[in-house]
Amino acid sequence: MALDLLEAELAVELPAHMRAFARAHADGRPPPAAPLIARLASTLQTARNACMHDVLADRGLALLRLVAPLVIEDDPAVVVARAMPPTWQNLSTLAAQRDAAARARFGLSSVQLAHRLHGVDATRHDHDAPGPAIEGWHERDFAIDHTGIIDAWQAIAARTGVTGTVRVDRSKKAHPRAFVIEPKVEVVIVVPEVIDTPAARFAVLHELGHAVAALALPAGVPRVVDEAAASYIARLAEPPSWLPPRWPSELAAAARRRRTALAAMLDEIERGLPTLADTPSSAPPWALWHDPGAQGSYVEAEVIADRLAKDLGPNPPRGQLVRALKAERDRVDHRTRI
Ligand SMILES: [Zn+2]
Repeated sequence: MALDLLEAELAVELPAHMRAFARAHADGRPPPAAPLIARLASTLQTARNACMHDVLADRGLALLRLVAPLVIEDDPAVVVARAMPPTWQNLSTLAAQRDAAARARFGLSSVQLAHRLHGVDATRHDHDAPGPAIEGWHERDFAIDHTGIIDAWQAIAARTGVTGTVRVDRSKKAHPRAFVIEPKVEVVIVVPEVIDTPAARFAVLHELGHAVAALALPAGVPRVVDEAAASYIARLAEPPSWLPPRWPSELAAAARRRRTALAAMLDEIERGLPTLADTPSSAPPWALWHDPGAQGSYVEAEVIADRLAKDLGPNPPRGQLVRALKAERDRVDHRTRI
């Protein structure tokens, strides 16, 4: 009963919130506060209660994936720490505060909690150190216009069989990002105004992959599956490809391997927090500051995307990817215990 009411209220409030979030992101403004209902201790309790009942566990888990990070980021000590300048030393302080907030509620560190919620294994795979930047990956070649993006999406939607609305918003300054306005119904992706490098085209495809996941699966998709869908779609840039001719790049596979190695390195750092060992740059990357636990998801997502690419082959029949994503999600959901 409490779960029904909560889900109904969130279904009313979240679309407007996510639209405002996408607009703020595109304009380079701070995100709006999440709806109050999503940040209440009672909401967290309802989600956890639901997780303990077999018939409600799926819905409880979906709700917990939404609410748990909001409750931690809302903790007063975390709010103070997050407002400090983003240095490595301050990241250590921020991580310690996030851990205190997570341990008090879940008995886990904040990164452990994010990993547990989103299907990241405790076992780690060995990774090479990231090599040098891929020459040409960030070099300007030709521009893709709005029609070009829509063409790519239509090819992807036809092949995957997803239906629903994808709106493509352009931004002068924002990083590419997907916003799920309403699961299975509507997604907004924010991409740069100018898309004229292989790296920029990759980023657009990655967000279109998030759109596939959002239109294919109900709310609360585990991060590893969401990122695996994004990775799978972005890998369509690796020849041979059935995408429209200007999207593939001979550099895409090497760039992917380097990105995965970077994520594995950052994942190591993140799992060690609040202790800092070697730090690879002068300031921590944005994601470590704002998106705790994401690196582990990126690494695990590549393992899933490898499996998807291998199982589906170069020319998957319509609808196969969505079926495979559902199976991956079920696998993650059924072994997730909080
Ligand atoms: Zn992503």
